[in-house]
Amino acid sequence: MDFFNFSINKILTREQSILDQARIRLLYYGFLLAIVGIGALYLSVYLQDLHVMSLTLGATLLLIIALFKYLTYKPHWHTISHILLVMGTLINLATVFVIMQDVNIITIQIIILVIVFSFYMLGQNWGMFFSLLNLLPVLIFMVMQYDHNYYIDFKPEKSDQSTTIIAIFANFILIIFIHSHFYSAFLKNIKQLKETGEEQAALNIKFERAIEKAEKSSQVQSEFLSTMSHEIRTPLNAVIGMSNLLLMNNPRQDQSENLEILKFSANNLLAIVNDVLDFNKIESGKVVFEKIKFNLVDLMQNICGGQIIKAEEKGLLFKLDIDSSLRRKVIFGDPTRLTQIIFNLVSNAIKFTAQGNIWVRVTCLEDRHNNITVGFSVKDTGIGIKKENLETIFEPFTQESITTTRQYGGTGLGLAIVKRLLELQNLQMHVSSKVNEGSEFSFNMEFPVSTEAVARVKEPTAEPQPQQQQQPHVAGVEDGSSSLRVLIAEDNPVNVMLMKKLLSKWKIVPTIAENGERAVEIMQYGNFDIILMDLQMPVMNGFDASMEIRKMPDPAKANIPIIALTASALFDIREQVINAGMNDYVAKPFKPDELMEKMQNLVAAVNS
Ligand code: ADP
Repeated sequence: MDFFNFSINKILTREQSILDQARIRLLYYGFLLAIVGIGALYLSVYLQDLHVMSLTLGATLLLIIALFKYLTYKPHWHTISHILLVMGTLINLATVFVIMQDVNIITIQIIILVIVFSFYMLGQNWGMFFSLLNLLPVLIFMVMQYDHNYYIDFKPEKSDQSTTIIAIFANFILIIFIHSHFYSAFLKNIKQLKETGEEQAALNIKFERAIEKAEKSSQVQSEFLSTMSHEIRTPLNAVIGMSNLLLMNNPRQDQSENLEILKFSANNLLAIVNDVLDFNKIESGKVVFEKIKFNLVDLMQNICGGQIIKAEEKGLLFKLDIDSSLRRKVIFGDPTRLTQIIFNLVSNAIKFTAQGNIWVRVTCLEDRHNNITVGFSVKDTGIGIKKENLETIFEPFTQESITTTRQYGGTGLGLAIVKRLLELQNLQMHVSSKVNEGSEFSFNMEFPVSTEAVARVKEPTAEPQPQQQQQPHVAGVEDGSSSLRVLIAEDNPVNVMLMKKLLSKWKIVPTIAENGERAVEIMQYGNFDIILMDLQMPVMNGFDASMEIRKMPDPAKANIPIIALTASALFDIREQVINAGMNDYVAKPFKPDELMEKMQNLVAAVNS
């Protein structure tokens, strides 16, 4: 039964574009019209006994019926159009050159039909091809006929007027049908384009709003974190500072133990706050890498100094191997960030190792003329990491397992920070680890080398660095510094009290300025050896005050050493401090001995 199903709905599908649907409809209804028209023509010529014509029209009619069947079976409009056009061309040329040997209005109509049909159905190239294929021979025929050059051995058939009328009618109807059909499809197409355009625009607006919202919320979140961390740091400074002071006051044994716990916890909390602040900064893309001169051997010794003590306290053997060729090299890079990376890796190694050793190696892998590639590796004999966790441990706030958190504490931010810091410099971290055997974290980094050589380099030593808990290193300060005249610019009364107490250890009675402007005023009439300058102060901040002081006419005042005190964890702080004319900075909460050492060195440098 399906064979006789000629319904057009069978061949129209949703996937076809509006234009293709129009093409199929055009073929479908065009075929029906043609069958009627050609049928009438066939009857007309058959009745006039025009044999060749009726044969041609009969064959055409059969072919068209066959194509109609094919179309309703499979809508291959492309193939069908080609067949139709080839057929039309053959009939057209045969009629002109053989059957009628004449060009009349019907020939012109057929050519127009071919042109319209071929362009609409097959596009520009095929349209042009079939149009010329039909038009050119006809033009040549007309010229030859005009010159009386055309002759073939066949008597042309002449139909009567009724056939001509039928043909002309049928052709015009077809031409009008094709045009009107395509015109409506064209309009429909434009309307649809407009609609999709509008939909797209609406979608785009929605999309933009969503992005804006997401950006804003992430910015708000990052600002919130920043503010919170900063606000937490300030009271923490006081807690750590006070415990330092109390520890320096020769407390009883039990008090001392409690104070150590207090200090340890406060330091821990500070480390966490710093991590969060830092990670936040890295994530929001605010990290800029410095390019300053330093010596890798000095830096590594500084980083590992404190860590060696921690390792030894746990009974671990700490080995620090540095390529001796690096000893005399001054390189360019960001020591702060490098410190952060190594420090995190070494802290983890110590934290996750109960016995055995920690091995930090710095190897010069390649030494080109003014560029070196250095390999860093931190290896331990600790608990190790399961293979399936080797990637996840680098995710922020992720630790290997819940037991890790319970047993070792931590935030799971350390490695995330390390990884991001390396990635920002297009570097990669390699990890190899075996459970219960140990882990190795390694990466390579390139540094430009300065032409100058290090004048004096400390010999590598595993000697413990002076620690906060120990009595501050005051050699040479004891005698000289008690006479040090110190001006402190600081607005926070807790910090002022802290500084006063701290300095009283060295019998220094500082002068206090509650803001930058006061500091400048006091400097004008007083004489001082050094200024400790808080950076965030009301009325006039530390940067501006320093710049004012540097402008003073008296060279002794203009060149006074200034140390910035800051609670800010900004990493470009060094640059800002130096730009404002200050000599150095100490981050709060500072280690008393670090501050004393800096003060002592700066004053000595000015006096020498
Ligand atoms: P945290 O140290 O605060 O837990 P990290 O991001 O530094 O966070 O480390 C993530 C996790 O990776 C750790 O919790 C631990 O499970 C694992 N890990 C890191 N370093 C080592 C190591 N040297 N040995 C074993 N496990 C490690």
